[in-house]
Amino acid sequence: MKRSVASHRRDAPLWHAMSGEEVVERVGGHPRGLSDEEAAARLERHGPNRLPTPYRTPGWRRFLRQFHNMVIYVLLAAAVVTAALAHWVDTGVIVAVVVINALIGHLQEGKAERALDAVRRMLSPMATVLRGGTRETIPAEGLVPGDVVALQPGDKVPADLRLLSVRELAVDESALTGESVPVRKTTDAVDAGAVLGDRQGMAFSGTLVTAGQGTGVVVATGQATEIGRISEMLAGVEELVTPLLAKVASFGRLISAVVVVAAVVLFVFGMAVRGEGPGAMFLVAVGMAVAAIPEGLPAIMTITLAIGVQAMARRNAIIRRLPAVDTLGSVTVICSDKTGTLTRNEMTVTGVATPGGDYEVEGAGYAPEGAFRVAGETVAPDERPDLGRLVEAASMCNDASLTRGDGEWRLQGDPTEGALASLAMKAGYDARAEEKRRPRTDEIPFASEHRFMATLHHDHAGRGVIYVKGAPEQIMAMCGGQGAPAEPEALDVERWRERAERFAAEGRRVLAIAARTTDASHTSLRFDDVGAGLTLLGLVGIVDPPRAEAVRAVAECQRAGIRVKMITGDHPATATAVGAQLAIGGGGAVLTGRELEGMDEAALVEAARHADVFARVSPEHKLRLVRALQADGHVAAMTGDGVNDAPALKRADVGVAMGRNGTEVAKEASDMVLTDDNFASIAHAVEEGRTVYDNLRKAILFILPTNGAEASVVAFAVLLGMAMPITPVQILWVNLVTAVTLALALAFERAEPDIMRRPPRRPDEPLLTGFFVWRIAFVSLLLFGATLGLFAWQRAGGAEVAAARTVAVDALVVFEIVYLFNARLLLPPSLSRAGLFGNRWALVAAAAVLTMQLLYTYLPLTRGLFDTVAIGAAEWGLIALLAAAIFGLVEIEKLVIRRSGMKG
Ligand code: ADP
Ligand code: MG
Repeated sequence: MKRSVASHRRDAPLWHAMSGEEVVERVGGHPRGLSDEEAAARLERHGPNRLPTPYRTPGWRRFLRQFHNMVIYVLLAAAVVTAALAHWVDTGVIVAVVVINALIGHLQEGKAERALDAVRRMLSPMATVLRGGTRETIPAEGLVPGDVVALQPGDKVPADLRLLSVRELAVDESALTGESVPVRKTTDAVDAGAVLGDRQGMAFSGTLVTAGQGTGVVVATGQATEIGRISEMLAGVEELVTPLLAKVASFGRLISAVVVVAAVVLFVFGMAVRGEGPGAMFLVAVGMAVAAIPEGLPAIMTITLAIGVQAMARRNAIIRRLPAVDTLGSVTVICSDKTGTLTRNEMTVTGVATPGGDYEVEGAGYAPEGAFRVAGETVAPDERPDLGRLVEAASMCNDASLTRGDGEWRLQGDPTEGALASLAMKAGYDARAEEKRRPRTDEIPFASEHRFMATLHHDHAGRGVIYVKGAPEQIMAMCGGQGAPAEPEALDVERWRERAERFAAEGRRVLAIAARTTDASHTSLRFDDVGAGLTLLGLVGIVDPPRAEAVRAVAECQRAGIRVKMITGDHPATATAVGAQLAIGGGGAVLTGRELEGMDEAALVEAARHADVFARVSPEHKLRLVRALQADGHVAAMTGDGVNDAPALKRADVGVAMGRNGTEVAKEASDMVLTDDNFASIAHAVEEGRTVYDNLRKAILFILPTNGAEASVVAFAVLLGMAMPITPVQILWVNLVTAVTLALALAFERAEPDIMRRPPRRPDEPLLTGFFVWRIAFVSLLLFGATLGLFAWQRAGGAEVAAARTVAVDALVVFEIVYLFNARLLLPPSLSRAGLFGNRWALVAAAAVLTMQLLYTYLPLTRGLFDTVAIGAAEWGLIALLAAAIFGLVEIEKLVIRRSGMKG
């Protein structure tokens, strides 16, 4: 499947060696972007901007791979030997076992893979593109050569671009060149012979923007991109395993090895001690081995995992790395962003404080309708110059826009800024007209690290003004006065601090807004320009109510023994108040980023034990927090959305990225992506993770004892030298009909009702707990004893051997069906509506196996093949009676264990 790399390259134009304008011309682009019609036509011609799916092992080879496994080798050898001995029925059944197993394994694996593919496709990246002069966000698949694309920190470059403008643009090209230090980009042409890593005027598809901004024209899409050409570099298909599954698989191999040795011992014993012939004894040994080896286990593990991942996707959590499914089940602490994850991210300004007074603002959501009140009295905003200055700045230093569609106001941009835009409109401020009159010359974008944003504007007469908004501590330190920037009065620091505290204590997020005039020659904005000399215009208080479902989910996590920690860039008082609404932190200690910085590792570990609310935190603090929690023995999930959250997301046991507001960089670093950015979805994923683990355990607890019973019946007869209750070929039949069918139903089992009321599973918990070993031994003995007893009873009652064997086989299968319903719930009682009928698959599997068994007993063909006898109602009555007893006994065992308080 290796494609020639060189052949593609020969005639590719050397875009990196041309100037930007030249490239735009060559690709038939336009600096203002393509028209929609032109883009559609090109999409037709070039095809979607999609990388080919990575190389897949073809179906037939995956089918053959199913045979590559010790059990199958044993069985194939057995088939050859039985054929040589002309035991055709045995050969036929053995071959059927082999083929059916491989077929089921193959189908399940294919289904699991398709399910995971579908889940992964839900994560398609978006691109910001200029079409017909306006910026649009479209799926990256829709890009065509000639499109002009804008890049921002955190973006994944969506196609190969020739850069047209850059501003401190830095790109991590490790996906392409292996070089992990971000590369500074320029718009310069470079030498034609420059290697990929030196083509600084280009941005390549699949690389990540770590800082700055830029625009570029698309020169290649899809497979024509540099990364598309190097097919070997495409991420291969992920193996369908997790550490837990690997553990189960190696456990399965261990059992197989032990069984093979036991079979050899049985073979030798039968010949030496019981004087059986080698041919007959060989069949017995093979029958025993096939019955005992859990050959269905891998298929069931895989499908359980896939079903879990699908269930998580349905509940808005997309798994990017499969091992996270294991880890989710044992998470002990979740560190969650506040804004947008725990809260609704629907922000509304409800209070304004200016030098001239305190305003309460009415209204909800982004709808720009609502009155301003001072001390309960409605006031006219246009008669308030102090308010006018503040909303002007709030509106100009702003990238959000509100549009009205079907009677609803929709926000484009950052919710905090949307709240300010709505405020300005409530005050009657016309942002569009103002922006035309005084266009933005430059800006410093908002970042959680510096917590403010500044813009520079010039009117047509050249008069300049700088607007700044941000966290009050930050802004206040930049201000020398308050009031009108032209004639500021002295700054009353104490009074502002009090007002900010008051807003924050009510759970409102606080922004300070300031301005400064400047001259015409000042055209680029640097940090120094806003360091001092600003005039404070006032404060705004913004409400962002908690999500109702997050409140419930936090409580659910706490019941499940998981600590929830809230992380925010907001003021500590705001954080405490919002935390209280969510029952996080219990009004207790708040840790700020500043305090965190002053602590060493040990002090942080200690502090993190007591604090659940973290305020004024920057992304780098998150990394330290994760480390401290892990050092304290926690399994930590951490959320994040920005470029700088990536290290913490990678470090966390489960890194959770936001699907809507998160950057591609954060998604790439994460194990799981939330499509709805909602905390509740993390809690759901944890629940599904615990369910997957439970279902794996249920499958093992079903398969091992049933196999154990089947094998013991055969081995016991040889050891005691009695007539076989079940012949080798009959045990192969039992294995054929029950091995995969029944246990598979357990993969579809839903969560047990108390799943979120148990403490987290310890990650180092062994698979075989005391309870496990006991349950396996208990049920093996039960099924074995009942089958053997029934056979002996029949014989004692004068039944023919063939009839007694038919009863034994039917009984064993019915017992397994009954035990399936016990096994559906680990410890809770199964004798209930949900316990008996709650899993459709279990009913279907039971019905199918029972039907097979009736055919086995009454169909002339199978009666000939397996030497069965059409048994009567009395025998079935006896089987039913014993089955009921087994069901009851296992239920009593559950009850005793529940009572004793032992853990399942
Ligand atoms: P969070 O982690 O809760 O989202 P942020 O880091 O986004 O917090 O914001 C921290 C503080 O920065 C806020 O309390 C607010 O004062 C200020 N802030 C937030 N968004 C903006 C913005 N777009 N422009 C200016 N300041 C902002
Ligand atoms: Mg934020």
